Order: sequence, then structure tokens, then C-alpha cells
Amino acid sequence: RNVLEWVDIHHRYGNKTVAHGINLAVGASELVAILGPSGSGKSTLLKMAAGLVAPQHGQIRFNGADYTFRQPEQRRFALMFQDYALLPHLNVWQNVAFGLRMQGQGKAAARAAAINILAQVGLAAEAERRTGALSGGEQQRVALARALVTRPQALLLDEPFSALDSHLRSQLQQLTLALLQQQPCPTVMVTHSPTEALQLATRVCLLDHGRWLQQGSPADLLAKP
Ligand code: ADP
Ligand code: ADP
Repeated sequence: RNVLEWVDIHHRYGNKTVAHGINLAVGASELVAILGPSGSGKSTLLKMAAGLVAPQHGQIRFNGADYTFRQPEQRRFALMFQDYALLPHLNVWQNVAFGLRMQGQGKAAARAAAINILAQVGLAAEAERRTGALSGGEQQRVALARALVTRPQALLLDEPFSALDSHLRSQLQQLTLALLQQQPCPTVMVTHSPTEALQLATRVCLLDHGRWLQQGSPADLLAKP
């Protein structure tokens, strides 16, 4: 079934409340966009799911199991951030295969899986190149391939396309949707772009000062005055 949940999450940094009773459940065929102004607490919610921040109150659950205090490595969730955090000195396929190698896959199998997904993002011919030598758009495609090659149980995207120009952005957006259609998993995307949220998401959640202001399908939100 695959459901990723935030259950009654409260969190503050000093006296700044960034989550104030947040609940959210995301199913396998959903792409939920969390939309809100800078500083509203969006990234913190993703980091909690990733295991990078422990909520002060509340739970992260996956398929009903409590994941709140599991280490990041104990969660099969993939992360993709704006600054794609690739290893520039490794070549392209090594970057993509890295997670598989960490999971204990042999080199040949990991390489084959990496080459396969690189073909899907249009980078098979770049597999042997040094990653740092690729353009920004190409590196973002490598990051996408790396995120999905492990067949993650959930996908967490933090402003994944913000650094790209509008042409590359829509290319990457379509590519992401196509890959997710092949291997559906609960997907949460943090963005400050209403356009991006409305175009890509099955559900949009508006966050403000750690609370949901509104939630709904893009059609619902657009229909409201
Ligand atoms: P958003 O993703 O919506 O921009 P964040 O979740 O990154 O919001 O941050 C929410 C607020 O919490 C911001 O004001 C930010 O400066 C603050 N913040 C984030 N992480 C920390 C931290 N580790 N320590 C202190 N304050 C933080
Ligand atoms: P208030 O609106 O009065 O400030 P909250 O909505 O912050 O209260 O808190 C709701 C519930 O969540 C309370 O039971 C509170 O104790 C608990 N809670 C809120 N923040 C935290 C936290 N950082 N750590 C533990 N529990 C918290």
C-alpha cells in the first residue's frame, strides 16, 4: 500500500514554531506539493521524513510503522535537493550506482542498473564522464536517476528544479512524472512556486507558520476564489 505519514508533528527552533500539529498522509500514487513562503517550515517537514531532524513531538510513519527515530540509512527514502549533492569527481554511473553499492549490490549489477536508468533520463552516452564536467541540467538528471535507481519506498524533493532555467525545468518535471508513473511511490515536493505545485501535484498543501492554511487538488484550489 505504501503510505508515508506525518502525525501530529510539533517542532520549534528556539521560540520559532515551525510545525504546529501537522498531519499529512501521502499514498503511493500521490505527489503532494508543500507550498509556502520561505521560512514557513517546509524543509523541516521533509528532513523529518528523511531522518535528518527528529520532531520534538509527533511521529513519522511508513505503512503504519513508527519511523520517527530511525536513522536515515534505515529508511528506503530517496532525497533530491536543489544543490543535487553529487560527488563531482566520480563519473556519472558511479554517482548513480553509489546507493546500490551502499546497499551491498555488486559492482556489475549496480553498474547495469545505473546505465539502464541513465538511458531513461537521456544520459547513457555520458555514463563514463566525470560528473563535475556536466552542465547543471545534466547533473540534475543524474540526481534524479540516483534518487530513483534504488526503487525507493518514498521520494522527497526539496525545491528540486529551482536552479534550472524554465526550459530545463519543464523537461525535468516531465521526466520526473514519467519515472514516477513507472515506479509509483509516495512523493512529497517542497516548492515556493505555485505554478510548479499546481502543474505537478495531485494535492497541494499550503503551509504558513507551521500550520496548513489549505489543502486540495489543483482543480479544487484553482476553483476557489
Ligand atoms: P522553509 O523550507 O519553508 O523555508 P525551513 O523548514 O527551512 O522553512 O525553516 C523554517 C524556519 O526555521 C526558518 O526560519 C529557519 O531559519 C529556521 N530553522 C531551520 N532549521 C533550523 C535550525 N537547525 N536551527 C534553527 N533554526 C532553524
Ligand atoms: P499551544 O497552541 O497552547 O501553544 P501547542 O499547539 O503548541 O499548544 O501544543 C499542542 C500539544 O502538543 C500540547 O499537548 C503540547 O504539549 C504538545 N507540544 C507542542 N510542542 C511540543 C514540543 N516541542 N515538544 C513536545 N510536545 C509539544
